[in-house]
Amino acid sequence: MKEDRKGMLIVISGPSGTGKGTICKKLLAEDPSLTFSVSATTRGPRYDEIDGVHYFFLTEAQYDDLLAQDAFLEHATVHGHRYGTLKSQVEELMAKGLNVVLDIDPQGAREVMRQKPDCVSIFILPPSYAELRVRLHTRNTDDPQEIERRLGNAKGEIDQMHLYQYAVVNDDLELAYSQVASIIAAEKQRTTRYFPVVE
Ligand code: ADP
Ligand code: 5GP
Repeated sequence: MKEDRKGMLIVISGPSGTGKGTICKKLLAEDPSLTFSVSATTRGPRYDEIDGVHYFFLTEAQYDDLLAQDAFLEHATVHGHRYGTLKSQVEELMAKGLNVVLDIDPQGAREVMRQKPDCVSIFILPPSYAELRVRLHTRNTDDPQEIERRLGNAKGEIDQMHLYQYAVVNDDLELAYSQVASIIAAEKQRTTRYFPVVE
């Protein structure tokens, strides 16, 4: 059977600490048709982060240059740092027929949904605000003041959940992962993206 497929843009969003990165990492490890769009940021790298793999870590001036060149599909200031999805990343990967995963904040997600209405949008929810606080502390990447800032933003972000096509609660990680993987599996079979040729 001959078949042709068109790549899709998958937007994974939700409050900070809800498990987006964890779920994306697992998706990318399990499904070779998926590829990650590496964002640009002015935030400094964490101890285990590699430039060009996790983010392109830029100076404020380098980021400003990209802004001036209209290089971003979307960009936002998130918890005090600037982040942007590079048009070049998304376009090059989609042109190869790959399914491109964006792990971006809800401001950026709304912009991508506006510009790319055929994207697949998935909102990841925490099981509770108390658990979200625990996860942000356990991750140990942000100071208590920053954690409170992220928690303060979470309620407003969750209020916007209805803008997304799908919602997944990340309580049990395996269940949440399998729900996201099922959404992606179903979306791959849409007749707008999948073209089997019967001979
Ligand atoms: P985000 O990318 O949304 O900011 P992370 O993927 O960094 O969130 O997850 C935040 C923290 O929560 C990490 O320490 C991660 O290991 C942990 N975590 C993720 N999913 C779960 C889960 N289902 N149960 C418990 N802890 C989780
Ligand atoms: P972190 O600093 O913890 O890696 O990410 C903080 C937040 O920025 C997360 O919610 C993450 O999804 C978001 N983020 C990462 N890259 C981008 C991007 O390119 N655009 C937008 N809008 N948000 C991003």
